[in-house]
Amino acid sequence: MAAAARSAAKESDMAAKPHAMFKKILIANRGEIACRIIRTARRMGIATVAVYSEADADALHVREADEAVAIGPAPSAESYLSIPHIVRAAADTGAEAVHPGYGFLSENPAFVDALQAAKIAFIGPTRAAIAAMGDKIESKRLALGAGVSTVPGLNEAVADPDAAVKFARRIGYPVMIKAAAGGGGKGMRIARNDGEVHEGLRLARNEARSAFADDRVFLEKYIDEPRHIEVQILGDAHGNIVHLGERECSIQRRHQKVIEEAPSPFLDAKTRRAMGEQAVAIGRAVGYRSAGTVEFIVDRKRNFYFLEMNTRLQVEHPVTELTTGIDLVEAMIRVAAGERLAFRQQDIKLNGWAIEARIYAEDPFRKFLPSVGRLVRYIPPEADGKRVRVDSGVYEGGEISVYYDPMIAKLITAGQDRKEAIANMRAALDAYYVRGLTHNMPFLAAIMAHPRFVEGRLSTGFIAEEFGESLGAASLALEEPAPLVAVAAAIGRREAERACRLSGQLAGYEAGAGTEFVVVFEETQHAVKVSAAEGGYDVSVGGERHAVRSAWRIGEPLFKGSVNGRPLTVQVERQGTSYKLNHGGHQLDVRVLPPATAKHLAVMPKKAAPDLSRYLMSPMPGLLVSLAVKVGQEVKAGEELAVVEAMKMENILRAERNGVVAKLHAKPGDSLAVDQAILEFA
Ligand code: ADP
Ligand code: ADP
Ligand code: MG
Repeated sequence: MAAAARSAAKESDMAAKPHAMFKKILIANRGEIACRIIRTARRMGIATVAVYSEADADALHVREADEAVAIGPAPSAESYLSIPHIVRAAADTGAEAVHPGYGFLSENPAFVDALQAAKIAFIGPTRAAIAAMGDKIESKRLALGAGVSTVPGLNEAVADPDAAVKFARRIGYPVMIKAAAGGGGKGMRIARNDGEVHEGLRLARNEARSAFADDRVFLEKYIDEPRHIEVQILGDAHGNIVHLGERECSIQRRHQKVIEEAPSPFLDAKTRRAMGEQAVAIGRAVGYRSAGTVEFIVDRKRNFYFLEMNTRLQVEHPVTELTTGIDLVEAMIRVAAGERLAFRQQDIKLNGWAIEARIYAEDPFRKFLPSVGRLVRYIPPEADGKRVRVDSGVYEGGEISVYYDPMIAKLITAGQDRKEAIANMRAALDAYYVRGLTHNMPFLAAIMAHPRFVEGRLSTGFIAEEFGESLGAASLALEEPAPLVAVAAAIGRREAERACRLSGQLAGYEAGAGTEFVVVFEETQHAVKVSAAEGGYDVSVGGERHAVRSAWRIGEPLFKGSVNGRPLTVQVERQGTSYKLNHGGHQLDVRVLPPATAKHLAVMPKKAAPDLSRYLMSPMPGLLVSLAVKVGQEVKAGEELAVVEAMKMENILRAERNGVVAKLHAKPGDSLAVDQAILEFA
């Protein structure tokens, strides 16, 4: 540690030389974070250079930068992870500094070395700080040395299953098996007994090898019902270092953050101060400059333990920006240019509440499997950057490709308090219109509406406990259908009016459109009466009057208006004679019919779905890594059948019930499409 701190000090002396602000920087990243960095650079009057792979020639970050350089084929190993290609792009365009964003090369010491050799500044911490914190085993030792409490465990790598079992028994079950080089929730498994240590060790090492080219794993105590709370720090090259409060990131799925917020609803002033101080102590121990995040895991009693430090800008940094008013990218650029921090600890004031939701191209109803494709329609909500902020790197017509993180955007909302931030998030999700691929917004809306989330009773187990492996229809039961029935009736009535006008019944067409309808809303029928009113319709549903007001016109994807004075947005899609309405995460099939037609509907037969339960189908596009069974083999529910690799993750497919394997439809090495049959049961 002492050596790391010493060499960090030497490097910072170099960076401390007063330096004019950069005139041009290169952004070594893609997607939303590249666009977000370009935005701040432009505001600071700095020219920007984007880099792009063959898959990204038409990407938004390429369009938004002042210049763009092609750096190789689609796979990131040959483009966004290619140090020589990126350094050359910076040198060729005369960029004086490089911002790495997050992921890719952002925490790679060799990248910092290569830039330094080319006399290009790195907008980030020193190489020594990155190296020390890049290894979870090393960083835990370093934190201990700085007087910070860490998760109990054995801070050394383990490869042999028997040794791992011995370790696990010594720490006590449950344990966490983690990749030393891990990140993004990969290479991490919980083990509750010896058997799970064996299986977890194998899978964690495989995953770590393929994701990080480093298969070292270690074991630590699994903290029960934990919260993930992290502290943002910011340091300059002159020894100043401050913290900008915490973010709570406990809403996770498989150790990956889904929703983040600032501040944490769990911390009291004393714990907040103690965590801030410890985060700064860790920063000081490595001579930290730039923006960094110290992650803690917090137990039920508010004991907190250092987890890891991320030496880069974090995905969820916007919630800190909205509560502190500090632009973290600007601060990073200024510090890299040698400037001193413009504020001291006592100048940092936290205001209001901010929440971020990660919008992914994945199917929440099918175990969150990636669902990449083209954004046939893309209308983000109106954003003022304060109450509603959208950080995205996509546009209508663009594609979410299989090569990279399937994130579509980050939606960030703020308010004076948590309740207001949540309300703004719900409204913004309602207005976020995405078609052409499946996305997780129904799931995000369901979380925002969940009583336990609203109360702030969070833990990293929240999603698994409340939703299981998939978003089920049950967690989306609509409590109060009447306002949406009223909106549907207003939409149906407007269509009926137009039909009358088109058929030439100009005079008195309103009456001709009818006042009585039946709204077939999912399985139930609601008889409604509709009458025209100033700026909308009055709709009576079950004898109750609902004032629907909206300037919506036929064909518009968003019905914006109010019901009984309460603002609401409903997404409207016409499909033949019915509508699909989206609101609050609910997707509803709705028909608005004249009463006589509705009578016939009741007697129409329903189509039966084909029985596919005999097949094991690939739940995602991917590669069949292995088959664990042969033809004729008897299997029990829960047994491993096959392993499919997708998005660098190995997914075990297990038997859902007992059976006998009748036929194999694929072999290891085959690439699989979604729903492609892998094997068939008798
Ligand atoms: P942060 O620590 O900044 O909150 P994460 O820990 O969620 O970010 O992710 C770390 C890295 O893993 C990020 O750089 C991101 O690019 C990548 N990542 C995050 N989520 C996913 C995902 N669903 N699929 C693939 N990569 C991801
Ligand atoms: P990554 O580098 O992938 O972000 P982290 O060490 O930050 O890895 O852990 C990611 C998440 O995994 C944490 O936010 C937490 O939910 C869970 N986790 C990690 N270690 C533990 C632990 N010892 N006990 C309980 N949960 C843990
Ligand atoms: Mg982490």
